Amino acid sequence: MSLLESFERELHVLKASGNLRQFQSNQQEDKWIQIDQHKMLNCSSNDYLGLAADLDLRAGFFDQLPNKLKIMGSSSSRLLTGNFPEYEALEFQLSQAFLGRSALVFNSGYHMNIGILPALSDSKTLILADKLIHASMIDGIRLSTAKYIRYRHNDLEHLTQLLEKYHDDQQFEKIIVVTESIFSMDGDEADLKQLVQIKYQFSKLMLYVDEAHAVGVRGQKGLGCAEQYNIIQDIDFLVGTFGKALASVGGYLICHPIIREYLINKMRPLIFSTAQPPLNMAWTTYIFKHMQNLHIVRDEFSLRCHKFRNEVMNKQFDCPSSSHLVPIIIGDSAKTIMYAQKLQHEGFYIMPVRPPTVPKHSSRLRISLNAMLGEAELSRLVSVL
Ligand SMILES: *Cc1c(COP(=O)(O)O)cnc(C)c1O
Repeated sequence: MSLLESFERELHVLKASGNLRQFQSNQQEDKWIQIDQHKMLNCSSNDYLGLAADLDLRAGFFDQLPNKLKIMGSSSSRLLTGNFPEYEALEFQLSQAFLGRSALVFNSGYHMNIGILPALSDSKTLILADKLIHASMIDGIRLSTAKYIRYRHNDLEHLTQLLEKYHDDQQFEKIIVVTESIFSMDGDEADLKQLVQIKYQFSKLMLYVDEAHAVGVRGQKGLGCAEQYNIIQDIDFLVGTFGKALASVGGYLICHPIIREYLINKMRPLIFSTAQPPLNMAWTTYIFKHMQNLHIVRDEFSLRCHKFRNEVMNKQFDCPSSSHLVPIIIGDSAKTIMYAQKLQHEGFYIMPVRPPTVPKHSSRLRISLNAMLGEAELSRLVSVL
């Protein structure tokens, strides 16, 4: 058997179980996405506020930008020559918004999550992670030398039990609790206020919260659930991405200045990768400023999501969401694919999500709402469901 055949066999297995992944070409305009000449409402995008699709916003940015600042490559890591003023301008903006705390930006949310945890941990570190955290944090944990245990999803009683068991164990000098605020696949939320209370009961504990799906959407200024619950100062590692609602690319960490300096010295994906182009940094800064003023858009969007969720629940679907991410759990992968195809046929681009992205037997239709979708369109989606 040739070397390639074993890979091919595995692909066949994936296909037979309905779990084969493929790229699909598409064209996008406003709230629409077109695939194979079929135009649908885009209900799968992470462009939650419609900023990536906003042509006026884009023109406003490029029109004011002189050619000499359209720098498309940084040519090195920030520790060599890649630390352009655009980086510092963005971190200054972030720091101001997040109540004067320190900010550090990364090439992507994935870089951020695979880099921070290994840099912070050693063999005397225990990581306690929610069962459903994003793959990027799991990879970060795997790259670290920490011992780690996962607690049942959003089960803070289970977390407390683990803390009571391990907190006074001499082998651990610090414990890092890792969670998302809004969870990617279930669209439900961690009880951050409660987590902060737990944190203050255990002196070795530090809190790591990923706001990838909450930044832009939650809080008066769109700074995430931490702003919404007024606990920005209480989270040791507050991280998020610019790639979703913020219509750009990159990740950020809000932390203590000592942590920032430590990571600049220890975090491998930060040290050993070429920094993002200054142009992207300038765009992120522009969007981040703009985004903070969109509280009316956020409020209206939140109401529309609430109404949509209620209507979905009224139809007795299995849906754990309390956010703009509204999964409908079907279970079987092949069935989920078939339903997704039917919805796409009806003009709604909704994708099936299957293992290993979600646990076995919990394949789902993942509806990702955005602020461009109007009430009438959402009502029609409910009736098609
Ligand atoms: C999307 C996502 C990431 C990755 O961020 P990128 O900037 O896309 O690399 C990290 N964490 C969570 C929870 C995410 O949903």
